[in-house]
Amino acid sequence: MTRFIFITGGVVSSLGKGIASAALGALLQARGFKVRLRKLDPYLNVDPGTMSPYQHGEVYVTDDGAETDLDLGHYERFTGVPSRQSDNITTGRIYSNVIAKERRGDYLGATVQVIPHVTDAIKEFITGELSDSDFVLCEIGGTVGDIESLPFLEAIRQLGNELGRERALFVHLTLLPWIASAGELKTKPTQHSVQELQSVGIQPSILLCRSEREIPVPARKKIALFCNIREEAVIPALDAATIYEVPLQYHRAGFDREVLRYFGLADQLARAPELGRWEEIARRIKSPEGEVQIAVVGKYTHLLDAYKSLAEALAHGGIANNVKVRLNWIESEQFESGNPGAFDSLDGAHGILVPGGFGERGAEGKIAAVRYARERKVPYFGICFGMQMAVIEAARSLCGIAQANSTEFGPTAEPIVGLLTEWVRGNRVEKRGMGDNKGGTMRLGAYDCVLKLGSRVGGIYDAPSIKERHRHRFEVNINYKERLERVGVSFSGMSPDGELPEIIEIPDHPWFVGVQFHPELKSKPFDPHPLFTSFIRAAVEQSRLV
Ligand code: GLN
Repeated sequence: MTRFIFITGGVVSSLGKGIASAALGALLQARGFKVRLRKLDPYLNVDPGTMSPYQHGEVYVTDDGAETDLDLGHYERFTGVPSRQSDNITTGRIYSNVIAKERRGDYLGATVQVIPHVTDAIKEFITGELSDSDFVLCEIGGTVGDIESLPFLEAIRQLGNELGRERALFVHLTLLPWIASAGELKTKPTQHSVQELQSVGIQPSILLCRSEREIPVPARKKIALFCNIREEAVIPALDAATIYEVPLQYHRAGFDREVLRYFGLADQLARAPELGRWEEIARRIKSPEGEVQIAVVGKYTHLLDAYKSLAEALAHGGIANNVKVRLNWIESEQFESGNPGAFDSLDGAHGILVPGGFGERGAEGKIAAVRYARERKVPYFGICFGMQMAVIEAARSLCGIAQANSTEFGPTAEPIVGLLTEWVRGNRVEKRGMGDNKGGTMRLGAYDCVLKLGSRVGGIYDAPSIKERHRHRFEVNINYKERLERVGVSFSGMSPDGELPEIIEIPDHPWFVGVQFHPELKSKPFDPHPLFTSFIRAAVEQSRLV
């Protein structure tokens, strides 16, 4: 029997609903349950793929090629369960499906309405494609009280009624603000937020209260009384030193206990959950044996959500090597000034990373950072755009192709990086042109890559072939392969048909690797990605040299 836990948020946004959901998933897993996490997003985009990272943060890509909300990254990092297309839905996708059905004539005769047609489509999504999950944790994006999330709230209200108390639980995440002048944590916003939920017919049974201080017993009693909730089910969620401590903290606060008690699974409480994995991670994060500095040279560096999975994967590389990874976010445009002092910011870096990116702005600065890393023998990791820029840099500096460039920035005489017009997916050939739709048309999701025997990456992965997730429209032009190989750039990973360069490396360098895919999407704190483990190890070695 699959049980559903609906997680809503109130008072303000950015309370960490995604991490709260992910951490509860990890706790239920630690008690031996199979979990699946899902996210409902209230905006009208069909998916976040076309949204700027400034608007929405990172776009998280699944194995099956969906461009999804970054919370799915938290879900995967906390539970290890690979997310799928069917785990993220937006209002835009729901409506486009409903309207497509209407045009086909599937509702012939009916007036198509939010209730029941849109709410039915939402319910189908929540309950569909579940196989053998014990629990589905379904996070509702946005904040209760928003106009946009109303159809989602209505759908989960109906589901609560249809599934019955035994199979549906509502958890609400709120904030208790600390008012310094009164010297008090305030419960009123939480009361109002719960009232808002009650006004659409939803009574939460567990409240998760974010707070920067311990919640005093009288405040907890008051919340319980006004919100119609048992006192033990008012769970304090205090700020944690690291997100990976949240499952441990929630357990100590009794969150999993309350969930099991609600569902009548109290007999499971006799056994303690297996939290050893989380204790070890928290221990390593709290007592590292050293520290390395990594310079991340990108474009959205003041908005850390834009590189969420990347920052986490680098931290995982630190966990694997028992070091703290300090990230220095550098706006690449600063290397375009011609000012010799501009590169001072890279001086203390034990590793340089150019992450994924789009568009011409800042590209020359990234190429300059690659050159710095290559010439000064600082470990370099190029991801997607970062690999493309590394190849352009090598073509210019090592092959003498002065005009080497990417067609992403306009027509060029030397298209070292060009539009990907044709590739194979399973037994289908995908084709693209310059003027195609932008939404959902990149080369997306997991593809195989064959590793060259004896290469650095072959050793790192310790496997002849791998599968990694992609999100790109351009590719390194294979016609330049021989010339680049002659100057020491090895094409050490290729698509199985040998057509698409997937990995390049420079063997005559302490650590220089560029990958066309996004390895950061698959890294987990309890299973750090081998490329990040190896890159951070190289940075540790570099730190011993300087
Ligand atoms: N803009 C490049 C492309 O589309 C790189 C994309 C990326 O870094 N994700 O190919």
